[in-house]
Amino acid sequence: GEVRVRRALLSVSDKTGIVEFARGLASLGVELLSTGGTATALREGGLDVRAVEDFTGFPEIMGGRVKTLHPKIYAGLLALRDNDEHMAAAAEHEVEFVDLVCVNLYPFEQTAARRGATDHEVIENIDIGGPTMIRAAAKNFAFTAVVVNPASYDAVLQELKDAGARLSLGTRESLAAEAFSYTARYDSAISRWFVEKQDDFPPLLLNAYEKVTDLAYGENPHQRAAYYAQAGARMHVLSMVRQLGGKELSFNNVLDLNSARLLVQEFELPACAIIKHNNPCGVAVGGSVTEAYSAAFACDPMSAFGGVICVNRTVDATFAEALLKQFCEVIIAPSFTDEALAMLAAKPNMRILEDGERRGVNVAERDIKRVMGGLLIQDRDMGLEDRTEMQVVTERKPTEAEWGEMLFAWKVCKHVRSNAIVLSNDLASVGVGAGQMSRVDSVRLAIEKARAAGSSLLGAAMASDAFFPFSDGPQLAVDAGITTIIQPGGSKADPVVVQAANAAGISMVLTHRRHFKH
Ligand code: 5GP
Repeated sequence: GEVRVRRALLSVSDKTGIVEFARGLASLGVELLSTGGTATALREGGLDVRAVEDFTGFPEIMGGRVKTLHPKIYAGLLALRDNDEHMAAAAEHEVEFVDLVCVNLYPFEQTAARRGATDHEVIENIDIGGPTMIRAAAKNFAFTAVVVNPASYDAVLQELKDAGARLSLGTRESLAAEAFSYTARYDSAISRWFVEKQDDFPPLLLNAYEKVTDLAYGENPHQRAAYYAQAGARMHVLSMVRQLGGKELSFNNVLDLNSARLLVQEFELPACAIIKHNNPCGVAVGGSVTEAYSAAFACDPMSAFGGVICVNRTVDATFAEALLKQFCEVIIAPSFTDEALAMLAAKPNMRILEDGERRGVNVAERDIKRVMGGLLIQDRDMGLEDRTEMQVVTERKPTEAEWGEMLFAWKVCKHVRSNAIVLSNDLASVGVGAGQMSRVDSVRLAIEKARAAGSSLLGAAMASDAFFPFSDGPQLAVDAGITTIIQPGGSKADPVVVQAANAAGISMVLTHRRHFKH
């Protein structure tokens, strides 16, 4: 099961560590074959290198598009050394065996991710010869070793040194497994580029995910879990997030963090969202994030216990002081003052996260929900309707302040699980009814929440993520004191709902677009 490595082919885009690796191979008497740029780097490192052109008898042509794509190479890589027919063919065609291939590919993902990269540049970074060599060597792992990761150079070299220039079958097999994951990831990035370019739902969806971190457990302690990010994603929920304190993030933390960030992204003003079980239990904007936090917290102090808090401005000492009075699982902010951090150190369990991400969600990114054995994929529910697309349907027209209140409630409502009802006053949620199976129950819940927290509903706005099928929900809210309603409309019951609103003397706006979130 062991193969003596006599000849190695090195062709790498990322030249990290390649000279040292090649030097190690050379010291074991291995002949080095190499392509243009790699050969130059090795020669500059003082190594003796045989050019691939010399090996194949065919020049590197077409600007490097064809360099290693030659039967001499593939016969040398794919020959089964214990097969008489293969060996006879090899002798007849003067094939020299290649025992080790060290290849990493043109930087396709990095090029595609670069702002302003042209299609031509991206396409030229689709490596053809590299993956072919990798796959050939990996397929023939019974006789050939393939190294695709510079992080493996040291271990491979060590084994070769320890074993007289031999690599065990076990090592060759795991290198082959890594190699196929590597080329699969590479192809999925190329495929994704085309999908995004064509803005389409393709017949076959390839998507590679790479592990970012193991998690202590899943939604519950008996479930194992890890966090994976889409390979090559420009941003993901933890991409630019730096943990400055507290325990390890949990599965549920990451889920809530995601919702919190998306919600806060809706606002330009200082804003705060507190998330529990993936729903906001308080959201507010204010003159400062401390003000916003206090108002968000006041919405539902009982539920806010142990929540995930997200703000869009620096956490300073004043804010830290307010935070220390409550128990929160996670706080995420764009930055923290040193003073605030020092104060928060008093709560060693509180996870403190600094969010360095300045970009929004990639528009081309799709929303995915997992079902048994499959995925439901849809466009993201991006953006919100413009006020100009909305329609006032009541006799009483909303004042400017009421418009502001309604638009705030509408933004929050989009981030609440259906059936979603949000009551707001003074640009702070005062009652959230989430995830109920009937809309009127969500209204009832939102009102109850407001009463429990002692919030006033006089002059409050109500937002509903979808139309009211009956006038019962609006009537409950009117009786509780709200004076404006914002909702998509489109129900057969619209006329009676408008009638009830007119009878109560409140104003109502239809958005003509709903925002279910399940
Ligand atoms: P070098 O810097 O040595 O000139 O080029 C190394 C890169 O070329 C590696 O990333 C390797 O995967 C790629 N490569 C090797 N052979 C071929 C080939 O025949 N065609 C193409 N398009 N790329 C190749």
